[in-house]
Amino acid sequence: MNTIERNLQDILASIPKDVILVAVSKTKPISELMQAYNTGQRVFGENKIQEMTEKWEQMPKDISWHMIGHVQTNKVKYMAPFVDLIHAVDSIKLLKEIDKQAKKNNRVINCLLQIKIAEEESKFGLDKEDAISILGSEELKNLTNVHIQGLMGMATFTNDQHQIKSEFEALSAFFEHLKPKYPYLKTLSIGMSSDYKIAIDCGSTMVRIGSSIFGVRNYS
Ligand SMILES: *Cc1c(COP(=O)(O)O)cnc(C)c1O
Repeated sequence: MNTIERNLQDILASIPKDVILVAVSKTKPISELMQAYNTGQRVFGENKIQEMTEKWEQMPKDISWHMIGHVQTNKVKYMAPFVDLIHAVDSIKLLKEIDKQAKKNNRVINCLLQIKIAEEESKFGLDKEDAISILGSEELKNLTNVHIQGLMGMATFTNDQHQIKSEFEALSAFFEHLKPKYPYLKTLSIGMSSDYKIAIDCGSTMVRIGSSIFGVRNYS
């Protein structure tokens, strides 16, 4: 058994069966992604559209590709033919562009709203109020080719487990608060290599794990 296969087995054994594992393969060569594929992994996460598109072109077509990074509106068109889930949607403007490109491809594109939960000043993510106003907006009703299926968040980059836990708990509570009104919200994407166990305790339904599968990256 190779290292990637062993890492995947260990992680899958440590998460509940109904939690989806996104194998974050950014910066890694196709040969390594194929090792994961050959053990049965079918969901891969990338944070650069060009890199994801190149991998999609060259790899088997039964892979579910997730865009986990920040998305520039002018690049949506490159992934619209195939992307399965966009994790980091943080504006109605971006949703409109995703809808437009999805229509051109006769597709409905799944999205998550990225919510700002980290204490540190982060450039990306919506405040809760902004997310509520997007979900309740008339504009969203007209976007027939986007499907918002949940929320995504990233905890502060810290070793303080208590802080990470309280940030995940806050997002999970917000998710539960929204669900009765928006029952189509099914996915809570929280948890990376260093904090996925905490995330699962806080109700994560989707973890995004890179370095614990493929090893450390030289660049991000
Ligand atoms: C890189 C990345 C991950 C995975 O990080 P690891 O620490 O390698 O597991 C998860 N989510 C996002 C948004 C990322 O950019």
